[in-house]
Amino acid sequence: MINPKLLKQFLVEPGSEVDLKKYVTDWTETEVAKELGKEVIKERAAEILDESRKQLAETQELLYAADTHSVLIILQAMDAAGKDGTIRHVMAGVNPQGCQVFSFKKPSAEELDHNFLWRYMKSLPERGRIGIFNRSYYEDVLVVKVHPEWLGPGAPAEPDEKFWKQRYEDINNFEKHLTRNGTLILKFFLHVSKDEQKRRFLERLTNPEKHWKFSEADLAEREHWKEYRKAFEDALTATSTKRAPWHVIPADRKYVARALVADLITTAIQDMGLKYPKVSDDKMKRLAEARAKLEGNNAADE
Ligand code: AMP
Ligand code: MG
Repeated sequence: MINPKLLKQFLVEPGSEVDLKKYVTDWTETEVAKELGKEVIKERAAEILDESRKQLAETQELLYAADTHSVLIILQAMDAAGKDGTIRHVMAGVNPQGCQVFSFKKPSAEELDHNFLWRYMKSLPERGRIGIFNRSYYEDVLVVKVHPEWLGPGAPAEPDEKFWKQRYEDINNFEKHLTRNGTLILKFFLHVSKDEQKRRFLERLTNPEKHWKFSEADLAEREHWKEYRKAFEDALTATSTKRAPWHVIPADRKYVARALVADLITTAIQDMGLKYPKVSDDKMKRLAEARAKLEGNNAADE
């Protein structure tokens, strides 16, 4: 488990004004990390990921057995920040039946005909399950803030500040509703630098096994880097709440990001204080009767 004091630096304190430049993208470049050395960090990160995975598998079973709560994990980031890889590595040990991943793309015409939260509501995790949103309703205050022309019919052509403020409010109210009704919400912004994104795009263009991952649209969006950063800062500022706070995860080193996310998820679920359901005296009696009956049957057959 990572020292909670260390993890605090990645939390967006509710009510604080977010300046993403103040959050590191490469944690191995911090003073603490330099003292430890990159090799030690890499090894420790692998241990933490492994440890958290095992614990997460156990905690997920408990979540399912208790059947009182659900967990919603939200991942947002610039392109190539490592959302998919993080999901794959962090959730590797979890029972696939207890976990659902939803990746949200451009909304369909049908989805645009509804309120903006509609398609996400339909994909929320059931009680006892972990749901992962690979992109989420936050896209509706991010990508469309950079490209208002993608808002779809019914939306203003030039949305003003009030429009976005209302969306943040809607999101906060929605999350309030969910948390009050037993959903734990964990939100991660994978914070990658522009340089590292360039390296990853180049890797996609150079390595034949990664060609499929390259999209020209991603390159076009890179041109809007500053606008995206501002949209993220506004969204994180407006929606990091006590109930559902944001974490800004340094994502230039994949092993750092994965270990941090794995640890934060595992610890948060463990902190829910879930318990296996207690078997009632009546149920215990019936279990004993069933056992006696079963053993009796075997004896009769022989
Ligand atoms: P990917 O995750 O790489 O498959 O890309 C999905 C694309 O869908 C990204 O370019 C997102 O910005 C876009 N997208 C996701 N949600 C929305 C939304 N609500 N409105 C417009 N575009 C979206
Ligand atoms: Mg993409």
